[in-house]
Amino acid sequence: MNLYPLTPFEEALDLVLQYTTRLDVEKVTFHDALGRVLAEDVYATEPLPPFQASAMDGFAVIAEDPASWREIVGDQWAGPAEALTVLPGHAVRITTGAPLPPGADAVVPVENSRESDGRVRFDRAVRRGDNVRPIGEDIAARQLVLSAGTAIGPAEIGLLASTNRVQVLAYRRPTVAVLSTGSEIVEPGAPIAPGQIRDSNRYAIMSSVLQAGGTPLSLGIVPDEETALRDAFRQGLEQADVFISSGGVSMGERDLSRGLIEEWGTVHFGQVKQKPGRPTIFATVDRPEFSHRRLIFGLPGFPVASLVSFENLVRPALRKMAGHTHLFRPTVKARLTHAIQRKGNRVEFQRAQLEWRDGEWHATVAGLQTSGRLLSLAGANALLRLPIGAKRLERDDIVIAVRIDQPETE
Ligand code: AMP
Ligand code: MG
Repeated sequence: MNLYPLTPFEEALDLVLQYTTRLDVEKVTFHDALGRVLAEDVYATEPLPPFQASAMDGFAVIAEDPASWREIVGDQWAGPAEALTVLPGHAVRITTGAPLPPGADAVVPVENSRESDGRVRFDRAVRRGDNVRPIGEDIAARQLVLSAGTAIGPAEIGLLASTNRVQVLAYRRPTVAVLSTGSEIVEPGAPIAPGQIRDSNRYAIMSSVLQAGGTPLSLGIVPDEETALRDAFRQGLEQADVFISSGGVSMGERDLSRGLIEEWGTVHFGQVKQKPGRPTIFATVDRPEFSHRRLIFGLPGFPVASLVSFENLVRPALRKMAGHTHLFRPTVKARLTHAIQRKGNRVEFQRAQLEWRDGEWHATVAGLQTSGRLLSLAGANALLRLPIGAKRLERDDIVIAVRIDQPETE
């Protein structure tokens, strides 16, 4: 078996992004579009508000009306316009969001008014346009409200609703088939025998896929057995845009995933100079039976290694496929609260807790950093990106922290 060359981390990331392209677009109902990326410019067809609307509860009047007491001639609630006209000497009781009756050009808030005997007077001067929202104040007709490439969040959903864009063109979410491999792996909830361990990777990776905006598809657990693995690969590649397996990518006698990845795709790297997550394979599958290119990631079996590799190399790819332009999480400079001893021969991603104190970030590494110890990742809000080099970092040294609790901004 040939050992893959050790690919520098930055080069591995470049390769992933180089072979990853945006997926196709589809029409989606606006309220199902949360988290997606818009694939068209959206223009308003109607102004908002579509009529002159009151911005307050109060009285609709003519601003320049010389009358000191005005007669209340009717009520205009938010809703259909009543057959009311405001003449000099008149006022119409009005609520927020109600259409301004013809004739009126201002609204006086109820708190600035005094009522008596069906009449009202105001304790301050009224100016034309007071508390009236002109047509199109928020959105003008034919205005560009959202441009293609915008990530759709709650405000964007609201804008689509108010501009009556019930259907919108958005990039497809990547579907991601996730497979656990290993004859020792058993389903959580099932009885366990000596030598077996529970499958944590598939559930952790599927959750990561969801958080990255993809649609996970479980392929279950497959033992280290070639025919079964081959079937799982076929199934995953047929059904999904991305195929992720965990385990079986090191140099062991029964590490069969490697061979199958080579059989199905073109391998772009097979080992990455990162810690954890060195045995990570990336391949692409361009076959006539598939409508478009499939990506394969062979992630390490060790739970932390597979999640860190996902974070570093898979997540940016999923976001790019989904049409996002910001592919990287924000980083901050942080001060170490303790010394770190390390080998320094690979880029290292240590799991840490960041805390804002005295005007700066402080980073505390979350205990033992072995690649199987999920407890080091649970509750961590940052990965400290420690470059190749220094074998020892001192307390108070400044390091780069990737904020894995924040959405991509770069
Ligand atoms: P492998 O890369 O297949 O040699 O696996 C490396 C280590 O990760 C072994 O200790 C495996 O038991 C463990 N491992 C592999 N797959 C999983 C999984 N799905 N869930 C939890 N641990 C796993
Ligand atoms: Mg294995």
